Amino acid sequence: MNEILILGAGYTGMAAATGLVGRLKHGDAHITIVNPQARFTERLRLHQTASGQTLADLQIPDQLEGTGVDFVQGWVTGIDADAQTVRIDDAYTLRYDTLVYALGSVAETDTVPGVDEFAYTLNSAQDATLLADHLARLADGTVVVAGGGLTGIESAAEIAEQHPELDVVLLSRQVPGSMMGEKARARLHAGLERLGVQVRSGVEIVKVMSDGVALDDGEVVEAQAVLWTTGVRVSPIAAAAGLDVDDRGRIVTDESLRSVTHPNVYAVGDAAAIRQGYGVMHGTCQSGIPTALHAAGSIVRELKGKQPKKFRFGYVHQPVSLGRNDGVIQFTHADDSPGRFYLAGRWAVAYKETVSSSPWTTYRLLKVLPALGAATWRRGGRSTR
Ligand SMILES: Cc1cc2nc3c(=O)[nH]c(=O)nc-3n(C[C@H](O)[C@H](O)[C@H](O)COP(=O)(O)OP(=O)(O)OC[C@H]3O[C@@H](n4cnc5c(N)ncnc54)[C@H](O)[C@@H]3O)c2cc1C
Repeated sequence: MNEILILGAGYTGMAAATGLVGRLKHGDAHITIVNPQARFTERLRLHQTASGQTLADLQIPDQLEGTGVDFVQGWVTGIDADAQTVRIDDAYTLRYDTLVYALGSVAETDTVPGVDEFAYTLNSAQDATLLADHLARLADGTVVVAGGGLTGIESAAEIAEQHPELDVVLLSRQVPGSMMGEKARARLHAGLERLGVQVRSGVEIVKVMSDGVALDDGEVVEAQAVLWTTGVRVSPIAAAAGLDVDDRGRIVTDESLRSVTHPNVYAVGDAAAIRQGYGVMHGTCQSGIPTALHAAGSIVRELKGKQPKKFRFGYVHQPVSLGRNDGVIQFTHADDSPGRFYLAGRWAVAYKETVSSSPWTTYRLLKVLPALGAATWRRGGRSTR
């Protein structure tokens, strides 16, 4: 029987697993998924965790119950691509015929001195909880959020709303929301201002210290907490295994999302470098879940002796929450450039909430309605050229 091994049970690993079970007949293949925790990390909501909110307790084994998929709780420490085995917890190995690599990404904490030692991150649910606990102990003071990308914006807004006793400063190289159209960006800044977030762009942080951050012009911004949200780092495991990776360590894929050097390895989500007509895709859940569903469809095709299909994807939106009562959704062209329309206020809140809660519901539906996932990959995604 074909052994399908999925590494990582985040948004894309879970989509691959549930996308496969709905389409495979009993006896076609055996699926195993590996993740360090049994609890699903809702990464889309980690800024909520960091600001002290309690999320739903979503358990991976519960979602997989009755599917025949084996859940292995463990940490992947290496891949032997020739032997087709994966090492778990440096203790034992699992064999595969087909590997789905879905280990995601985290914020880069190595490039600026002091980040690893003094800054908080949203790199895991535990990291977000550490920040929440620290903020809960502060009676007053300043929180610096480093990075004006969507994660930095959402975090600054959420902390400002949940902790009105704290001053929140968002420090960024680019103007936050620079990827949005002018009107949506202006609305975003109005929302941040309403929450009392102080936005400073055009700044370069050169050092993080126990009591703040140093900027390249010598200024020190004092802070009782620093949240680091910038840069992207992926696991070094793929590169160490000899798979072809890009300059960020992401697995370089062919048009069907297979590793260009190891075609029995599918790479999906943030850990994959997937080229489209407009360039290499950047990591989002929006694009990651379609990659996983496409990989699941391709694996089923290969098991039937057919060739996998080409993957095509076009972005739809840039959804940003501004606390629990506000948000901005910029609708985009397929290449993620801003379109004419955006939503703000309570419509944006409802839209963003739907986006954030839909993956877990989709996994449940995929198990019984395989056509849901099949539609995505058969159509080849939104036209991009
Ligand atoms: C605060 C925040 C808000 C966001 N909001 C949005 C949004 O609104 N829309 C959007 O599209 N995207 C958003 N994103 C981005 C989105 O979360 C990621 O693109 C998405 O999670 C990628 O899915 P993934 O499966 O590749 O990685 P992940 O969801 O991170 O899953 C990777 C899994 O692999 C596991 N893993 C890692 N290393 C190992 C190992 N060595 N061994 C075993 N398991 C391992 C991890 O524990 C994790 O469970 C947001 C991100 C953040 C941080």
